[in-house]
Amino acid sequence: MNIHEYQAKALLRDYGAPVSDGQAVFKAEEAKTAAGHLDGPLWVVKAQIHAGGRGKGHFKEADAGDKGGVRLAKSVEEAAQEAKRMLGRTLVTKQTGEAGKQVGRIYIEDGSDIERELYLALLVDRGTSRISFVASTEGGMDIEEVAEKTPEKILSFSVDPATGYQPYHGRRIAFALGLTGQQVKQCVKLMETLYRLFTDKDMEMLEINPLIVTDKGDLKCLDAKMGFDGNAIYRHPDIASLRDETEEDPKELAASKYDLNYIALDGEIGCMVNGAGLAMATMDIIKLYGAEPANFLDVGGGATKEKVTEAFKIITSDPNVKGILVNIFGGIMRCDVIAEGVIAAVKEVGLKVPLVVRLEGTNVEKGKEIISNSGLDVIAADDLKDGAQKIVKAVKG
Ligand code: GDP
Ligand code: MG
Repeated sequence: MNIHEYQAKALLRDYGAPVSDGQAVFKAEEAKTAAGHLDGPLWVVKAQIHAGGRGKGHFKEADAGDKGGVRLAKSVEEAAQEAKRMLGRTLVTKQTGEAGKQVGRIYIEDGSDIERELYLALLVDRGTSRISFVASTEGGMDIEEVAEKTPEKILSFSVDPATGYQPYHGRRIAFALGLTGQQVKQCVKLMETLYRLFTDKDMEMLEINPLIVTDKGDLKCLDAKMGFDGNAIYRHPDIASLRDETEEDPKELAASKYDLNYIALDGEIGCMVNGAGLAMATMDIIKLYGAEPANFLDVGGGATKEKVTEAFKIITSDPNVKGILVNIFGGIMRCDVIAEGVIAAVKEVGLKVPLVVRLEGTNVEKGKEIISNSGLDVIAADDLKDGAQKIVKAVKG
């Protein structure tokens, strides 16, 4: 689960990490009062969306102006003006894709004078099963590009969970970033704080880009992105309350409400499968026969008729879906339950694309009978290969 920059900065502030003062704005009429709470002489007006690259992004609507999603202002009036221009408009960045994201919240911040822009991140490294620090002198830029063109400019190391964070970790980062004097002390303290926040809140990712050295020589977190482990959210009601559902894929959101493991993808074949392994095998075999899956969907081992109906609705609500493959192995799950769910869903939402159903396992005969007696235009398949070939043929001709 991701949160907005202003929410991440509130967490950083709570933990004593250096951030600027700021005010979140939800409605245009609040902008002037919010900006007035800050000292100036420089204000930064920042569109809040769950995507990076806002500064270099652009708005779809002409009346939002030709600047990106991070704007500098020299007065309260100008700051309020920029906030109003961006609210409700669609910001397109490298990370949003062409569709962009609608801006529903703005963060107005006290502007900083920047001496240097650095990069810092903490993340769970699945290779080492440890938390890693990533630091670079090339802040403010696209870190993927730095990694590709000048990998020597990135320092990365993991922390042994047996010792946890140690001051030498912070010093190693400070020296790699070319910090001196007081900055080294600030860096050691800041890294300790970030590590504690990261572990306290079960984060997956914490990125400060840029971490700046101000004109006065102090470190400050100028941008903040945080991602939390969804499986641990139940332990953090404070973090769960920061969820902004408008930022999430509506299909994935609906799926999470029904406890379905669903990930939207770009292809044309919708998949309804039980078990993550079978779901991945299904996606692979669709690709093998020359098409692309529109989603990953594991309805789980103990799915009910309602759950199957909901899963079907989610798949059909995707306009990219040109055909559906239902591939179920009835172990704990019974094939007749799946069949009833599919029939109920088709009756409710209608069927505008070809549907191939492959059932195997417990109560398979009963399941097949339910489908063939339904009078619906369903293509039956005997095995995984047959199912994949039939749906690809139905879609691609
Ligand atoms: P992003 O584009 O979504 O990563 O948004 P950032 O918060 O990182 O802002 C983008 C860029 O705007 C930064 O790299 C800075 O160069 C600039 N910027 C952000 N805040 C300030 C500020 O307080 N003062 C100045 N001078 N520039 C800022
Ligand atoms: Mg940034």
